[in-house]
Amino acid sequence: MFANGLLSLNFRPLPKSYGGVLRFALAFILFAPAPAFAWGAQGHEIVATIAAHQLTSRATAQMARLLGSPAMLIHDSNWADEIRDQRRETGRWHYVDIPLHVPAYVAARDCPNADCVVAQIGRARLVAGDSRRPAAARAEALRFLIHLVADLHQPLHAADNGDRGGNEVRIALQSRRTNMHQVWDTRMVEALGPQASRIAADIERGVSPAQLKSWQAGTPISWANESHDIARARIYPMVGGRRTLRLSPGYVRDGLPVTRMQLAKAGMRLAWLLNTTLR
Ligand SMILES: [Zn+2]
Repeated sequence: MFANGLLSLNFRPLPKSYGGVLRFALAFILFAPAPAFAWGAQGHEIVATIAAHQLTSRATAQMARLLGSPAMLIHDSNWADEIRDQRRETGRWHYVDIPLHVPAYVAARDCPNADCVVAQIGRARLVAGDSRRPAAARAEALRFLIHLVADLHQPLHAADNGDRGGNEVRIALQSRRTNMHQVWDTRMVEALGPQASRIAADIERGVSPAQLKSWQAGTPISWANESHDIARARIYPMVGGRRTLRLSPGYVRDGLPVTRMQLAKAGMRLAWLLNTTLR
């Protein structure tokens, strides 16, 4: 545990000459097609904030030493999405395509060459916890671990119906055009409110000791199966094989309890993995 003040993010001010570049970048972001990133940056920030509150002082100190400061747990939580274009080989590490019609994950079918989120969480954990490895390699593994545990809890990152995890299910929602994957990545999280730290605190307050105990167990495989189950039971039945559909405004409201629970599980499990890895 550490003082709350350490959690405030330390953003460096940009030199003035960056203004034009920033405006250009912003215009590009606004008009570019929506990328299929997980949870959106805010979802990752919420998960990392929950985890930060649950870390032992020993894990916090090791994490801070590897990443530069305690605040970097949150600051770096979306790094793995930001480098996807430069590190193409990491693109498949953010999800696992478990076919919708099967009951559970099978490594040989769903994760060839260890190129999926389940295997990469295991790999990142091994590297991050190995004190014989160079600090830079451990720091990078830690950044992947922080990010990928959150990704695995977005249900559409562990299910596929021949539609790239819902990316090819086109959605009309309140006059906006999006897709099913994006709805669960970002629209659900946006609907929780604007401030990640406040949402994280609110979600944590709702977790009972019994839930915490039952959630901080299992493996990335069982967590993938949980996400897959949610996609099968909760998300795909109403899609009904369609590739275009209109959602009512109530759809997002009705999905919020699932989103809150998955963010809570991801945060608590990330803390558990970090506490048992950085010892
Ligand atoms: Zn991701």
